[in-house]
This record gives sequence, C-alpha cells and structure tokens, in this order.
Amino acid sequence: MAGTVSGLATRGRVGAIWMDGGLVASEQAQLSVLSFGLQNASCVFEGIRVYDGRPFALDAHLSRFFASAESLGMNLPVSRPAMVAAIDLIIGASAHPDLYLRPVAWRGDEVIGIDPAGTTIHVAVAALRWPAAGPARALRLGLSRWARPAPHMAPVTAKASANYVVGALALADAARDGFDDALLLDHRGYVAEATGANVFVVRDGRLRTPIADTFLDGITRRTVIELADKAAIPVEVARLTVADATDADEMFLTGTAAEVQPVDAFLDRVFATDRPVTSALAEAYGRLVRAAGEPR
Ligand code: PMP
Repeated sequence: MAGTVSGLATRGRVGAIWMDGGLVASEQAQLSVLSFGLQNASCVFEGIRVYDGRPFALDAHLSRFFASAESLGMNLPVSRPAMVAAIDLIIGASAHPDLYLRPVAWRGDEVIGIDPAGTTIHVAVAALRWPAAGPARALRLGLSRWARPAPHMAPVTAKASANYVVGALALADAARDGFDDALLLDHRGYVAEATGANVFVVRDGRLRTPIADTFLDGITRRTVIELADKAAIPVEVARLTVADATDADEMFLTGTAAEVQPVDAFLDRVFATDRPVTSALAEAYGRLVRAAGEPR
C-alpha cells in the first residue's frame, strides 16, 4: 500500500543509494547472508522525509541515528558531516522533489556467533521516491495481542530493527483481522503506540499522548507537541489506558511517513469525522514540513 502508514512499496521507487562511502548502483547495494546485523538483529535505521528537496528535521534524525547505534554498541565509521554530505548527494542524484530516505547501519559478516567483537560496521542511505498523495483513506485500528517490551527487555528507545519484529507481527495480525493498523500496549498494560507511529487522543479539547518510556519518542510526536503549544492547545503527556482511547473525541497517529493521520475507528469506537484539533495540527504540520530546512 503505497504511501500509507503501513508501508511504501519499494518496486520502481528506488532512487540513489549511498553505501560505505559513495553512491552505488542498486544492484551493487547488497550485503552478505552471514552479516551479523541480519543474523543477530544488530541493525539500526532511520526514516527521513524530503519535501521539495528539503529534508525535514534532519538534525533530529541524525542525532537519533547516532544514539540508536551507540545504544547497540555500534561506533559508526561515518562522521555526522559525512552523513549530511551523503544525504545531500543522494537527494541531488535522486532527481525527485519528494523522497523517503532510509539510513541504515549494521554489523558485517566477519564472525558468526553472538559476540559482536571483530565485526565491522556498515552504513548505507537509500532513497525512495515518495508518491503523490492519494485519496485520504479511513484508518481503522485494532488492539494488538503483542505488547511493547519493557525497557530492560530490549533497547526500546532506539530505532533498532530488533524492536520491529513485534510491530511486524502486530501489523500482520491487524491486516488479517480487517484493521489497517493496531495499538500496542506496554508491559504494564498502558497504551504505547501503533506499529510504526505514535498515538494521540483528544478529549474535551485537550491533547493527550503516552509518556515515551517504552517506545520510540517520535520526531513527529515532538513536533506536534510543539505545534500544539504554539496553537495554545493544552497537551498532557501521561499514562493512557484503553478506556482513555475509546472515550476520546478524536484520535490520530504521528510519524515521518504517517505525518498527522486521523484515526476513524479504534475497535468498535467510531470517531466523529468533525475533528477540529486533529485537522488544525495536520494542517500546521503540513505547512511546517514544506517550509522548514534548507533546500538541497
Ligand atoms: N514508533 C515507531 C515504532 C516507528 O517506527 C515510528 C516511525 N519512525 C514512530 C513511532 C514515529 O517516529 P517519527 O515521528 O520519528 O517518524
């Protein structure tokens, strides 16, 4: 499903790819089946949108990329200015105004086993051409039987591929059950996030979102909180229960791919299509992403 919360088809959309120091043809952008990163999920990544040639929140994404790598003990062999230069090169070579960039770092194939010592670190950035916006689609959310792991069970605040096995299983279940996505609870039973996006609810004009201590603190989430502050919409970052979600007046998801995506229904609860807070924030976010950052 191109351009939805759940995925962007790669076929026919691959732009330029940079790998281990330079641009490479996509058929050369390959990795070994023995890669430690693949065998042992020692891999971190990012997702960055480019709007009209402007990468949105590039600094924040690069900070999180380096922090995610550090939390897996991976010392990236690329400096931050070199990453910016690589991204500039890719945007230029992709010759398309709107892109999705996927920086990724993983451990190489020098060792098979569990001890990562002796593995080299590889870094790549792939660009996908972002499709022109299709018609808005109603988003129906289920509630996953999978939970986000506790902070001592996984590097939960890192954007690490290891954390995505639960999301991928939850999304496959949701699709089978006729939903577009699902909310996952944390290990305590509080609402955490969707499979690839953060969640907000609105009740009596107040915006509420879960505390990001067991899941990814989304850059879009932080941006939306700032936009709400600017618009004098009260924001509460708090523990949310399933009842808080079903009792809400409005619900929306946030993410680099999803932007501000209204939720039409959560389980049996159908939200009103008049959603003033969601609409105001979606508009403000849409304006910001096309104005912020430097064109490359
Ligand atoms: N949670 C998960 C699991 C995600 O994959 C994403 C998308 N990166 C988000 C939240 C939202 O993060 P961001 O706003 O930084 O894209």
